[in-house]
Parts: sequence; structure tokens; C-alpha cells
Amino acid sequence: MSTQRPARTYAVRTLGCQMNAHDSERIAGLLEAAGYRPAPPGPHTGPDGEATSLPQADVVVLNTCAVRENAATRLYGNLGQLAQAKQTNPNMQIAVGGCLAQLDRHKIIERAPWVDVVFGTHTMAALPALLTRAAHNQQAQIEIAEALTVFPSTLPTKRESVYAAWVSISVGCDNTCTFCIVPTLRGKERDRHPDEIIAEIQALVSEGAIEITLLGQNVNTYGRDLASKTGFADLLRRAGAVPGIQRVRFTSPHPAAFTDDVIAAMAEVPTVMPQLHMPLQSGSDRILRAMRRSYRRDRFMGILDRVRQAIPDAAISTDVIVGFPGESESDFAETLDVVRQARFASAFTFQYSPRPGTPAADLPDQVPPEVMTQRYSRLVELQESISEQENQAQIGKVVEVIVSDAPGRKDAATKRLSGRAEDGRLVHIAIPPADAVPQLPIPRPGDMVKVEVTASAPHHLIADSALTGGVFEVTPTAAGEAWARYRFR
Ligand code: SF4
Repeated sequence: MSTQRPARTYAVRTLGCQMNAHDSERIAGLLEAAGYRPAPPGPHTGPDGEATSLPQADVVVLNTCAVRENAATRLYGNLGQLAQAKQTNPNMQIAVGGCLAQLDRHKIIERAPWVDVVFGTHTMAALPALLTRAAHNQQAQIEIAEALTVFPSTLPTKRESVYAAWVSISVGCDNTCTFCIVPTLRGKERDRHPDEIIAEIQALVSEGAIEITLLGQNVNTYGRDLASKTGFADLLRRAGAVPGIQRVRFTSPHPAAFTDDVIAAMAEVPTVMPQLHMPLQSGSDRILRAMRRSYRRDRFMGILDRVRQAIPDAAISTDVIVGFPGESESDFAETLDVVRQARFASAFTFQYSPRPGTPAADLPDQVPPEVMTQRYSRLVELQESISEQENQAQIGKVVEVIVSDAPGRKDAATKRLSGRAEDGRLVHIAIPPADAVPQLPIPRPGDMVKVEVTASAPHHLIADSALTGGVFEVTPTAAGEAWARYRFR
């Protein structure tokens, strides 16, 4: 009889942005490399089987964000739930990492003394050792470093998707936007060597990935740290030429540093997708100045014009903050005007909320909440109508979608699978009944499907062409193969 103890289980909950989600993959990879196993989902699950409550794991890691609104409220809410779980499982350990951990370090242990480990954005690699030390010493461990010593991309990773992967090209930011805490928490920009990035992409392709998203706080300043002026455009070209890569995306570029060589690379490299997410933040030059965003409205609109000239089908999306301190009705009207002219495919809209430790938090003239809410509704209403019209204009087009759903998760009523088109739009695809077209392969996650858009809504497209004998071409991919191998092994 084996006397081996079962491996301890872990769960990671991400409370933040894409950068955090990518860091969570690394946290999972680190824990698995240290012998932990993923915990089964929590007792409550949503319609697609995703966990809606904290799972019962031996180690729960909360990967926090200080950029998103209500981050602290969400963190302490989660910690409250975990305090109860820990009473029933005293061997459970709780770790808090990410930007808010970096910012609040000691406060977290003061407010939630049942937390075992607090680690910062630069000390992720130490997590398994910190958990062991906390258990051994029976004392909370706090490890925060102000600067990066190990580039996070060199850490083990457990990726969420078989066909798509994030590739971190830089960390940190040299800008000083007055509403943002990132430069304080993630430090100055540090760029990875391009050869290292390309080697990571090649390794991802060998594991089945066909789509990569280059990730950085300001992807297009990439190369500055390496004394290269065309660093990002060159990197896009090299990434797009890696054999086996079908799609390259990137997020997010900064308008001040957006150069025409990047537009040329986007237009000329067939694997670089016709999609651009570029934060506007405000349409008022006065507010942009107060935000310390070093571009103005005309420059922003000029970039959009040049991108659309070079890549007519590009779907352009943005971020907008409403109610920055001092924003007047006429400043807001300028934002609405830019949004009207820019015709974004979609926009992430935020109501300004002060982040402690940022210059804007102490500015006088904070916009009253009722004014902010009213402006926010007007902006959302405008953008929704534009998104709806822009999506309607897609009807009749043939798009190529990489399927992200597993066949078992299709909607039983409509038999639709979902995925992203080349321009990043979400597409729901009807698949024909098996008896109607028995020889037709059912696309697997990672396979590509050509379909015609038949209907639209503000946030997605419907492609039901297969039901009427229209376009429906499935291209099996290495990613689909990898998914099938993984599923059936
Ligand atoms: S560019 Fe501005 S908003 Fe973006 S990470 Fe840097 S400081 Fe923050």
C-alpha cells in the first residue's frame, strides 16, 4: 500500500487585467512545477461549468489588481469568504499577489491576519518557497521587491488555451499618466531580448499554439530599453514570420509612440491581424494634458486615418475614462465628438475613480458622482449604437474564425460554437446537424472555420450560413489536434 500523501491542490483567482491573467498562468505553472495539482472547481458552477465560487483548494492564490475599480473591495470580500473556508480546513494556505499586494503589503496582513503569503509583482518566482516557509514558521511571509530580478517570462507557465498564448515582451512603463499606479508598482519599462521572445513563440507553436498576443504596458515603446528605434515593428515582422503562426495580435500601444513603421508591419505581414486596441482616455486636449498623456486629439485621429488607409478592414477599439478631475461639460462633449468620428468597433469605458498614490487622486475639482454617472450613460449609449452599426456592416462578409469552444459546450438550443474573427470580433457559428452533413468535420477548439456573417448585435456577430447551405469550411489545425490529444489522452 502506498504511503505517499496526495499532492496539495491549488487554485488561482485573477482579480485584474490581461497582464494579471497572464501572471496567473505563470503562478499556476510555478505551483505545478513545485508539485501542486489544480483543485476541482468550487461547489457552485455557472452554465458553462466555470467556477463561480472559490474552489476548495489547499492553496488559494488571489492575484490582485490596483488599476481596476473596487479592487480592494473585491480582495477583502474574497478574503472574508476564505477566512470561513480556512476554519474548516486549517491546513489551507492563502496567498495574495499582484499589484494591490505590492501597494498594500502590510495592510493586507493587518486586515486579514489569516493570509499566509503576500508577494509582489516582482517576486512571483518565490511563491512556492514562501508557502513552505509560512507553513514551517507558522508565520505570514511578505516578500516584495521594488525591482525585477527574474523576467517573468522565464518562469514555468500553465496556459489556459491550447491555441492562443500571451507573450510578454516588456514589463513596466516609463510614462507618468496621473491616474495610473502601474509605474509605481511595476517599475520602469524592461524589454526582453527579441531572440528570447521569438524562441518562446517557436516553443509555443511546437505545443500547438497558432495565435499569440504580444503583451506589454506600452508594446510600441518596445526596443527603447534595447536602444532600438524600430524595435516593435521589427518584432511584429519577426513574430509574424515564425512558421506555424497564424495570428499575431498585440496590446496595448500608446498613441504618443505609435509610428508608421508599425502600421506598415500590420499591413504587410499577413499573420498580423487587422485589429488595433489603442487607448484614447479623453477627447479633450486639456484633459489629456492634465492626465499627462503626451498626445493630442489630432494625433490620435491621424493614426486612425493612416491605419484605416493601410488596413481598411481594421477593427479599432479603445479605452475611455469619464469624469477625470476638472472635466467640464465641454471637455466631455469633445470626447463624445471624437468617439462619434472615430467609429470604434468597441470601447472599454470607465468612470474615473481615484487610485491612492496617484497624482490625480489629490487633484481638486473631482467630478460629482451624479454628473459622472450621467456622462458615462451618454457615452455608453453613443458607443453602443456605433458598435451596433459597425457590426451590422459585417453582415454578408465571409470571416475566418478560430473556434474557442469545446464541442460539448455548444448551446443546445442553437447549436452554436464561438470564436474570434481575424479582426477580434466575437462570432457565434451555427453548426449543421450531423445527419444533414455527416462527412463534415465538427470544428474543435483551435480549428479554423470560414463562415458568412448572417446577423449581428452590438457585442457579437452571428454566422448561421451553414444552416442554409452557405459558406462553412473547416480547416483542421495543429491547435485542434493538440486539443484533441490533450482531451482524449
Ligand atoms: S502609459 Fe500611462 S496608463 Fe499606461 S501603464 Fe503607463 S502610466 Fe499607466
